[in-house]
Amino acid sequence: MRRPTDTEALQQALSAALGSREPVGSPAQLGLRDGVFTAFDPAALERPTLVGGAALYTPASPAPTAHTVDELLRRAEALGVPQILVPHVRRTDDARALRAAGFVPVAAGAECVVRLTGDVDELLRARVGGARQRALRRSHDSAARDLTWERIRLSELGGAPWARDAFVELHRRRSERHGAGHNPYSAEALDALAGGALADRTEMLVRRRGDSVVQVALTARSHNGRGLYHLTQAIDPDDPAASGDLHATALYGIYLDARRSGLHWVHLGPGEARDKRPLGADLFVPLDHWLRADGLADREEAPRDPGLSRFAAQPVTTVPVPGPARGRLQPRFDTVDLSGNTNPFLGTASLYPHLDTVELADTYLSTISELPGHGSTGALTADHLLFSSGSVDGVMLLLAALASPGESVCVTPPTFPLYAHFARLLRLPLVEVPLRGDDLSELDTERILAADPRVTILCDPNNPVGTRLDPAQVLAVVTGTRGLVVIDEAYVEFSEKPSYARLVAEHDNLIVLRTLSKAWGLAGARCGIALAQPGIIDALRRVQVPFGFTDASQSAVRDRLTNARRVLASIRHIRAERDRMARILAEHPVVERVFPSEANFLLVRLHKHERVMEQLHQAGIVVADVGFLIPGTCRISIGNRRANDALLAALSAAV
Ligand code: PMP
Repeated sequence: MRRPTDTEALQQALSAALGSREPVGSPAQLGLRDGVFTAFDPAALERPTLVGGAALYTPASPAPTAHTVDELLRRAEALGVPQILVPHVRRTDDARALRAAGFVPVAAGAECVVRLTGDVDELLRARVGGARQRALRRSHDSAARDLTWERIRLSELGGAPWARDAFVELHRRRSERHGAGHNPYSAEALDALAGGALADRTEMLVRRRGDSVVQVALTARSHNGRGLYHLTQAIDPDDPAASGDLHATALYGIYLDARRSGLHWVHLGPGEARDKRPLGADLFVPLDHWLRADGLADREEAPRDPGLSRFAAQPVTTVPVPGPARGRLQPRFDTVDLSGNTNPFLGTASLYPHLDTVELADTYLSTISELPGHGSTGALTADHLLFSSGSVDGVMLLLAALASPGESVCVTPPTFPLYAHFARLLRLPLVEVPLRGDDLSELDTERILAADPRVTILCDPNNPVGTRLDPAQVLAVVTGTRGLVVIDEAYVEFSEKPSYARLVAEHDNLIVLRTLSKAWGLAGARCGIALAQPGIIDALRRVQVPFGFTDASQSAVRDRLTNARRVLASIRHIRAERDRMARILAEHPVVERVFPSEANFLLVRLHKHERVMEQLHQAGIVVADVGFLIPGTCRISIGNRRANDALLAALSAAV
C-alpha cells in the first residue's frame, strides 16, 4: 500500500467521505485521537487541514519527497487551508523534506503486523500463550458453525448491493457508538474505493446469520503479493456473537486463510503494541503524524538518538553499524525485495534472518521482569538490549568495541576462563585479581580499583564455584572504577538473590550479560543477551556481524519466553535436586568439600582427585575437571535424577 497509485485511490475515498474534491477536514473530524494533538496544540485539532501523502485509511504513508511537500504547500495555499497533516509516516523513513518545510512530528503509535511464520496455532501459542490461542480457536470453530462467511471482490460489489448497504450501515453504527467525529467508511467512500485502483485487490468479508449481516471487514492484498492489509471491521453489537471476541475471532480466520494461500503477513493497521500484541502482532513500526501549522516549527524536538557511549573504542566511533543492520528497523514486509542475492525458489530459509528484534527484546524484558529478583527492570527498553550468538560472543564483542590496545582487562580467578582467553586474543593486557574467602566469593575491591582496568569482568553466580559475589563489593567496583564493569549472569535464574539487570538504567559503565543457554534450555539456539545503556549497545552493534541470530533461533526463543511456566517449574526442580545432591555428596567418603551453590552445578573438592576422575571416566560419566582452576576439584552439573544417581553410584564404586 505504499505505491503512489494506492495512495491516490485512498485519497479519493477520503475526499468522497468528506464530501469534497480535496482531502480537507479537521483532525477532530478525521477521528484522530484528541490526546495526541491537544498535548501538542489544542487549536490544531479543530482547524481545517489538508491531508497529504496518503489518506487516513493507509496504515503508513511513505514520507513525501521534497517535490511532494512543495506540491502540498502550494495546494494548501491555493485552498486557503492553514494546516497540513501527513499522517502515519514510519519513524524509520527519511523525513528530512518534511522537517525542512516546517512540519513537526507527533507520535502516533505503531503500525502492527502479524508475521505468519509457520503454523498459525503454533505461532499464536508462542505469541499470546496457549490459553488465548485455544480460546480463539474455540470461538472461531463455534462462529463457523453458526455463521456463514462470504467474500466479495470490491470490483464486483455492484452485484451485491445488500452487502454494500450492510457494510455502510454497520460502519455508521460503529462510528456513532465510538463517538468518532467522522465515519471514513461511508457509502460514498466505499463506492470511491470500489471504483479505484485498489478494487481488484480488495475484498469485503461478510458474515451472516441467516439473512442478516452481523460482521463486515475489508482486506487488501499487498502489491508484493505476500501479505494482507486488514483495513476495517464492523460488527452488529446486537448480535449474540458480538458478546464474544468476534473481532479477534475474525482475525484468526483471516490468518488461517492467509496462511493457506501462502501469504507471509497480515497488517492490522496503526495502533498501540499493547492492544495488538494479544491479536498475535509481532512487528511494530513506530509512526508519526507530521503536522504543519503556525508556530509549531519553533518547538524543540527531543533528540531521538542517545549518542554513542563515552566508552566506545576509537575505531568504533568512526564506523557505522554495518550495512544490513543499519536498516534493521526499516520494515521490508511490504516491499519487493531484490537486494539479498539469494535464490527465491527454495522456500523461506533462503531469506536472511529478520534483523528487527525489537519485539523479541520487549518479550525478553517483560518475561524477566516477572522473575524473582528482577523487579523494576521496567526502566529498560529494547534499546538497552543486544542479542548475540550466545553470551560468550557478547564478551568478544564488548572487548572489541570498548577496549583499545594497551587498556587492561581485569578478571577474578577462579572464574570462567574464556574472559581471559578473549582478552589475550585481542592483545589486551590481563590483570588477575583472585577471589578471596573460604567460599571464593569475596572481591579484592582495593586491588581491582588500584589496577584501574578498562574492563572488569565478574561472573555472578560464579562459574566454576557456584557462589554469588558480595553485592556491596560488586557495587563498590561499579561506582568506584573509571572503567566498565561486566557482570556475566549466565546462571542467575538459579539463584534466589537479585539480578543486576535493573541497575543498567542507572550506570553507564555497567553491562549485564545473560543467556538462554542455561536455565532456559536453549544452548543450541545460540542466544546471548547484553543489557547496557543504549550508547553501549550502539557500539556493540557496530562490531557485530549481522545475521548471527537466525529466524529458527528467534522463533525458538520467542516460544520459550512466552511459555515460561515450564521453565520456571524446571528451575525449581533443578534447585531441589541440587540441594539433594549437595547433601549426599557432602557425606560421601571421596568428597572433601562441597562448595555452596546458587547455580545448576556443584563444585566438589575430592580427596583423591586424579583417581576419582579416572574412575568416572571409566564409568562413562563426564564431569568438568576444574583442577586447573581450583586444585583437587571437579564441577558437576545437576542432571536428571537418573544421571545424578549414576554419578553417585560411580563415585561409590571409586571408594
Ligand atoms: N558465561 C558463563 C559463566 C558460562 O559458564 C557459560 C557456559 N559455560 C557461558 C557464559 C556461555 O554461554 P553461551 O552459551 O550463552 O555462550
